[in-house]
Amino acid sequence: MKSTASLSLPILFLLAVVSSAQAYDFFYFVLQWPGSYCDTKQSCCYPTSGKPAADFGIHGLWPNNNDGSYPSNCDPRTSFDKSKIQGLLSSLQSNWPTLACPSNDGTNFWAHEWEKHGTCAESVFNEYSYFKTALDFKSSLNLLQSLQSAGIQPDGGHYSLKSIKDAIEQGTGYAPYIECNADESGNSQLYQVYLCVDSSGSQLIECPIFPRGKCNSQIEFPMF
Ligand code: AMP
Ligand code: AMP
Repeated sequence: MKSTASLSLPILFLLAVVSSAQAYDFFYFVLQWPGSYCDTKQSCCYPTSGKPAADFGIHGLWPNNNDGSYPSNCDPRTSFDKSKIQGLLSSLQSNWPTLACPSNDGTNFWAHEWEKHGTCAESVFNEYSYFKTALDFKSSLNLLQSLQSAGIQPDGGHYSLKSIKDAIEQGTGYAPYIECNADESGNSQLYQVYLCVDSSGSQLIECPIFPRGKCNSQIEFPMF
């Protein structure tokens, strides 16, 4: 076999391009319950456009590997450019709301998600299609509706983790991973829902691997 030293520069360049184009195996599509971001010790700030709807918001679409590792901040040359997503801004405000403090219009959150995660999937997405794809997945999912159909409401009550997983699987066709966090009193609560998307960003798939972390067997679904 030839040693790397004897490969010509154009071939090394080609290898670099090919390997960067396949630097992940699938995406996590992560949705967040705003009530669980806001009722923590840290609290939250509503965006300048006002209090978001009582619905799941998008956190991000994250390239991931089957071994659990993931690439991040892959291309500093394509930093976030708001002008490229002008046509999506009102939908982003409604469906991908920032809750960080101090109160802001969401640009920081979207820029962070594009630069940390989106730039690692530039073989399938440009900035516009990255955000558009996430918005389209969210509207096709109707996560809150799936839960409510199973009698699971954001009413501050406690529900079994299994009933929540089953309701989402029933509604979407795919088994979710549920991430919990703790409210101000330390109760385990429904914070984020992870579903998986194939590496071309076109359809939901069963997750090849779930993140680590644990919820209580009964978790709170706080109001927002
Ligand atoms: P990531 O870096 O994409 O894994 O996301 C984690 C970061 O996103 C942390 O800095 C969080 O504080 C931040 N974050 C999570 N949810 C929100 C939100 N709704 N608005 C603003 N920042 C958020
Ligand atoms: P465990 O209680 O960790 O042994 O998990 C029992 C089953 O529930 C396994 O199939 C896990 O993959 C699944 N499971 C545990 N925690 C979660 C979670 N937060 N979200 C989705 N599935 C989970």
